Amino acid sequence: MIDHYDYLVIGGGSGGIASARRAAEHGARTLLIESGRMGGTCVNVGCVPKKVMWNTSRVAEVLHDAPGYGFDIGAPRFDWSVIKAARDNYVARLNGIYHRNLDTAGVARVTGRGCFVGPHTVTVGDTQYQAEHILIATGGHPDLPDIPGVEMGITSDGFFDLDTQPARAAIVGGGYIATEFAGLLNGLGTEVTQVLRHNSLLRNFDHDLHHVVMSHMAESGVHFETHFHADRLVRDADGSLRLHAGEGRVLSGLDCVVWAIGRRPNVSALGCEEAGIRLDVHGFVATDEYQNTSVESVYAVGDVTGRAALTPVAIAAGRHLADRLFGGNSEARLEYDNIPSVVFSHPPIGTVGHSEEQAVERFGARRVKVYRSSFTNMYYSVLERKAPTLVKLVTLGEEERVVGCHVAGDFADEMIQGFAVAVKMGATKHDFDKTVAIHPTAAEELVTLR
Ligand code: FAD
Ligand code: NDP
Repeated sequence: MIDHYDYLVIGGGSGGIASARRAAEHGARTLLIESGRMGGTCVNVGCVPKKVMWNTSRVAEVLHDAPGYGFDIGAPRFDWSVIKAARDNYVARLNGIYHRNLDTAGVARVTGRGCFVGPHTVTVGDTQYQAEHILIATGGHPDLPDIPGVEMGITSDGFFDLDTQPARAAIVGGGYIATEFAGLLNGLGTEVTQVLRHNSLLRNFDHDLHHVVMSHMAESGVHFETHFHADRLVRDADGSLRLHAGEGRVLSGLDCVVWAIGRRPNVSALGCEEAGIRLDVHGFVATDEYQNTSVESVYAVGDVTGRAALTPVAIAAGRHLADRLFGGNSEARLEYDNIPSVVFSHPPIGTVGHSEEQAVERFGARRVKVYRSSFTNMYYSVLERKAPTLVKLVTLGEEERVVGCHVAGDFADEMIQGFAVAVKMGATKHDFDKTVAIHPTAAEELVTLR
């Protein structure tokens, strides 16, 4: 038996769900195929459980600071299992909400693995489904190093399965996930080593940002191993783990090693080759600016395309695509420039646009002018504990158009969205200066930079 649809979506994560619902709103007969838990990476093993753990670590900081503000709270005790259970319940509730939202929108659902057998045909088990248009929104999975003993470590997926808090953990990697996990575990009292191949974390970010974050994390107790090229993981007789690198370097006594070295696209057993869908040199589904693949009836959005692997990007690209295919808006597409993002590090980073390095490389040093300020948030004025804030604007040309806006510091995560609107609209430094400050805040420093 063959079922026919207008739109068939493979993958019920951020991009797939958003696109399927929007298409159904436009009246398209839509089917969504999902092999695992509804909601994909973000809901189940990504943004959502991560943010809960980051919030948990924020609570730990506030409790630590409470006596400085006059509160006598005794010695707080932390029970990992309590927040793990609450987090799992929250995720399960979200899974249910996603199911109901799809039902309400009239999107049909199939559980199983979708596989192309042609440009308009996908199978799930023995059943074939045909559609005018097919979307690949299959996301990605954690990459692993090719070294002996790798299976004794865990990835971000395994991190969210941990029933007990690790006492001593090594987090291998220098990107978003490694930096977020290292910071939050340290905040909760785990002895953390972040293992870097080079000399810094978050190397793709503006140098001032990664400098501020790495210095503060080190001051707060995270141990960094730099230029450490892990080549072997071993379990000792006492059950603890030992991570080796060349030149006899070794980290021992670990009870948890987390590999956080990037993510790979979910394309295996998807039948891309059979359907003639081209992958790029890194194995991601190759797409143009309208999310078209090399096959006319097939599109791709989100992490599987290897472009800005962020939930709101997958959602926006999926919705624009549905608007283009079924909403009569032939030019609808996501603009990939000036995408804001936050690293939930300690302190958090909020960033949009070019780093200083990127601006200089693209426009030349003569045309780029930078404004920056670093200070300690007033919150710390009565505390012994201090955390830094850095705000920075990267401007271009004589009109000083703001092409980069960067914050590292408390509340940077909530600050950057509004500034991203200004940058997207082409605001100049003068526009920032004309805006009246809100006092006393950290954000006001961005409109008073000199
Ligand atoms: P996914 O959400 O991964 O969904 C893909 C779905 O396809 C999955 O459910 C999968 O089971 C399914 N699938 C795969 N193959 C098949 C098949 N053959 N048939 C049927 N179904 C299939 N982004 C942010 O913006 N903010 C954050 O704070 C943030 N934190 C993160 C923290 C972590 C630890 C991780 C890992 C990621 C984080 N991200 C964050 C990134 C974000 O989760 C992803 O960018 C986003 O989930 C991508 O959405 P997607 O739709 O492309 O793929
Ligand atoms: P990232 O791409 O952010 O970082 C991975 C880093 O690991 C690389 O940049 C590299 O850094 C390092 N690395 C690569 N290979 C190795 C290796 N063999 N050994 C040691 N280190 C290695 O990937 P993540 O896995 O952290 O996250 C994946 C994506 O998910 C992110 O890019 C982001 O788009 C998204 N995400 C977003 C979040 C958010 O919005 N807050 C949170 C989490 C994830 P170097 O070259 O410096 O060694």
